[in-house]
Amino acid sequence: MNKRIRPETIITDLVSEIREKYGINIQTEIINVDSSLIMKARNKDTILINKKYLNAIKEPDILKALLYHELGHIVNYQKWLRYKLFVYIGVAVSGIGLFVVTLFLQYLYLVLTGFLLIIAGLMIIRFFMQRNEYIADLFAAKELGLRYYIEQLKRFMSIDKRAHCASKAYHILAKLFGYPSINSRIERLSRIAEQVF
Ligand SMILES: [Zn+2]
Repeated sequence: MNKRIRPETIITDLVSEIREKYGINIQTEIINVDSSLIMKARNKDTILINKKYLNAIKEPDILKALLYHELGHIVNYQKWLRYKLFVYIGVAVSGIGLFVVTLFLQYLYLVLTGFLLIIAGLMIIRFFMQRNEYIADLFAAKELGLRYYIEQLKRFMSIDKRAHCASKAYHILAKLFGYPSINSRIERLSRIAEQVF
């Protein structure tokens, strides 16, 4: 691929392509944070892009795939709002569980109830967070072609392993809250592809 194209230019081109194609006036914002955040959809029209990854990836096709995934989040923004509510419910259920555990530490049955609530809350969060990711993936796969999209995700994974210096805490949190790995996203895409495509 042509390494002389600046990644910022690739993004600018992709964004104007998207604006024309979908009539969504999306904005991009380049941020500079030392975390594992690559791209993130914020509100209904903004995609945040981490400069660290932008420089590490450089590949137009991979950037396109990642951008379309975020576009999927934006297109499903209203749905995501609904999921967000469920995530809050999950947090609340877990929080109540934690409260019960600490308040009634001397009563074993209440401690157990509290732990059950914590687990239930986490499961609610996991379910809706994963669902949200899969919906964004499905959008990108439909728009770009399933094979192409999966291929770019795989290529991204191989780059990401080298470019990755995310904190351990992030990985633990991501596991706990069920933010799906790219591997499980690819697996899921391949599985549902037969019904959808
Ligand atoms: Zn996502």
